Amino acid sequence: MTNPLLETWDTPFGLPPFARIADGDFAPAMAAALDEGRAAVAAIAENPAPPSFANTIAALELADQLLDRVAGVFYNLSGADANPARDALQRDFAPMLSAYASEITNNAALFARVDDLWQRRDELGLGDEEMRVLTLTHRSFVRSGAALEGAARDRLTAVKSRLAVLGTQFTQNLLADERDWFMALSEADLAGLPEFVVAAAREAGREKGQAGPVVTLSRSLIVPFLQFSPRRDLRERAYRAWAARGANGGESDNRVLSAEILALRAERAALLGYESFAAYKLETEMAGNPAAVRDLLMAVWAPARAQAEVDAERLTAMLHADGINDALAPWDWRYYSEKRRLAEHDLNEAELKPYFQLDAMIEAGFDSATRLFGLEFRPLDVDLYHPDARAWEVTRGGRHVAVFVGDYFARGSKRSGAWCSAMRSQKKLGGDVRPIVVNVCNFAKGDPCLLSYDDARTLFHEFGHALHQMLSDVTYGSISGTSVARDFVELPSQLYEHWLEVPEVLDRHARHAVTGAPIPVALRDRLLAARTYDMGFQTVEYVASALVDLDFHDGPAPADPMAAEAATLARIGMPAAIGMRHATPHFAHVFSGDGYSAGYYSYMWSEVMDADAFAAFEEVGDPFDPETAARLERFILSAGGSQEADQLYTAFRGRMPGVEALLKGRGLDRVA
Ligand SMILES: [Zn+2]
Repeated sequence: MTNPLLETWDTPFGLPPFARIADGDFAPAMAAALDEGRAAVAAIAENPAPPSFANTIAALELADQLLDRVAGVFYNLSGADANPARDALQRDFAPMLSAYASEITNNAALFARVDDLWQRRDELGLGDEEMRVLTLTHRSFVRSGAALEGAARDRLTAVKSRLAVLGTQFTQNLLADERDWFMALSEADLAGLPEFVVAAAREAGREKGQAGPVVTLSRSLIVPFLQFSPRRDLRERAYRAWAARGANGGESDNRVLSAEILALRAERAALLGYESFAAYKLETEMAGNPAAVRDLLMAVWAPARAQAEVDAERLTAMLHADGINDALAPWDWRYYSEKRRLAEHDLNEAELKPYFQLDAMIEAGFDSATRLFGLEFRPLDVDLYHPDARAWEVTRGGRHVAVFVGDYFARGSKRSGAWCSAMRSQKKLGGDVRPIVVNVCNFAKGDPCLLSYDDARTLFHEFGHALHQMLSDVTYGSISGTSVARDFVELPSQLYEHWLEVPEVLDRHARHAVTGAPIPVALRDRLLAARTYDMGFQTVEYVASALVDLDFHDGPAPADPMAAEAATLARIGMPAAIGMRHATPHFAHVFSGDGYSAGYYSYMWSEVMDADAFAAFEEVGDPFDPETAARLERFILSAGGSQEADQLYTAFRGRMPGVEALLKGRGLDRVA
C-alpha cells in the first residue's frame, strides 16, 4: 500500500483525499517530508555554484513543498477533528519540527550563501518581491543568531532554552492556581444570579467533587459572577483570588520567574545587538519601534481614562444608593455596570437571536465579498474530513480563485475558539497554486442554527482572514496571504467585521428564522448603539496591561517587576476601581512564551487600523465603494507580506492610520 499523503492528488481542485488518509499515514509522511527537506537544504548549502537568488533563496522556498502539504492536512485535522492518535502525533511532531527549523538557521554554509547575496543585493538586479524575500530570509537568520560565533552563540542557545523552560513553568504555575482555588456557595448565595450562571456554578461544583455549587477562577464563570452577584463580600473574595493568580507564594509563585524571564530577554536582545528587547521584537512589526507603540497607547489612554472616570462617578452613585458608603472597588465595577447596561440598553439576546441564522450570515459574508470584490461562491459536493464541514468554489469572472471550507459547529474533537487556516497557500513559484482556505468556528448546532451577535461577528472576522488568503497574489509562498507582521494580520479580519454592522447588510440578511421578516429598525439601532457601552473600562484595563508590557521590555530589565508595574500604573494614573486586564503574575500573553511579549499592544494597533480603514469607505459615503474596495484588494488583501506593512497601508490610505476613528468607534471621542 502506498501512502496517500505522498502521492499526487488527482482530486477536484487538488483537495486532500481525506477518505483515503489514515492516521497511521502521518508519521511516515512527516518523516519522508523532513528527509526531503533536509536533502533539499543540504543540496542548496553544498551547491558548488556561486550563490544566486535562484539557486539559494528561491530553492529554499521550494525545499519544504512536501512538508507544507503534509503539515497543511495534519494541523487542520489536529485542530478541527482531533482524536488520541492525532494528539500523540502532534506531541511527537513538535520537537521534530523545531529541531528541523534550528538545523536550517544553524547551517553555517547555508547562512554564508544567504549573507553573500544580502551583501551583494544591489548588484543582483532583483525585482521588488525578490528583494523583499531576500531581506526577510536574511533577517530571520540573523535574528535567530546565525551571525553569532563562539561564546556569544553558545550563550544565546543557553538563554533561549532557559526561556523555553521558564515559559512552560509560568503557564503551569498559573494553571495550578486556577485549578486549586474555588469558593463554595450556599443556596442562599445564588440569589440574583441568572440561570446560566447557577447552572455553570453547579457544574463546576460537580467537577470539583463538591456537594453544592462553587465559583472558580475560570473566566467564563467568575466574570458573570462578578457581573451579577449582589453579594459584595463574595464578589470581593472572588475578585481578590482572581487578581492574585500566580502570586500566592510557595512553589507556584510567578513573581520571581517573571524577573528572570525579563532579564534573559534583555540579554538575548543585547547579544543580537539590539538596544532593548522591545527594539528587537518590534523590528519586524508595523509599529517598528517602542516609541511608536507608546505614542499610540498614550493617545488612546487619555480619553479612555477620562471616560472611565465619568463612568466611575455614575457607578459610585449607584453603590451609595444601595446604602454602601464606600469607594467603588474593582469588585464593584462589573456589577454596577451590568445594572446600568440593563437600564440604558435593554438588549435581549432572546429577542435578537432569531434574526441571526448561520446560513443567512454566511450568505451575508459572501454577498458583501461579491459586492466588494466580485467574488462568486458555488457549493461543492466533495468529500471532506468531517460531515459538518462544507466547501464552496470561489470564482471571479468565471476564473477559479480558491476553495473555501467552512466548519462551523462545536464538537468534542475540535479545540475551542475560532480560526482561519490555509490547508494550501497561494503562490506562483513552481506552478500557479490556488489556495484551500478553512474557517473553523464553535457554534452550537441547531435547526435552524441561530447565532448570537458576537458569533456573527466571529464569522465575519474569520472570513476576513479567509479573504486575505484567497485573494493573495504573490510569487513566493513565504510572503503569501496572512504571512505578515503580527500587528498587521488582524487588519483584514477586524475590518471585515464592519460590514456586518452596515445597516443595509443587516436589513437584507438578518431575517427572522420563522417569519422571514427583516430585523425591526428599532432593534437594529439598539443593537448598534450598545456596541460602545463601558468602553472606558474595557480600554483602560487593556491599555494599562499593554503599557506595563511595553515598559518591561523597553530599556534595562527591572529587578523587581512588581515594583515596576506599580510605578507604571502610578505614572499613568490608573483609576482605583479598575484592575489591569492581566497583572504580571498571570500575564500569560507576555510570560508563557514570546508570542505577545512587547506585543500585547498589537490588538489595539490593529483596531486603530481597521477603524481608520473602514473610515475610507465612510468618507466616500458608500460601504461598497468599488474604487476603495479595489485599492483595499490591490494594496492589502492581495499583497501578503510583499512590502513592509506601513508601506502597504500608506499605499491604500494615502497616509498612516490615526486614532480618531478608533476613539469614535469606541465612543471615546465624546469626553474632553
Ligand atoms: Zn483574527
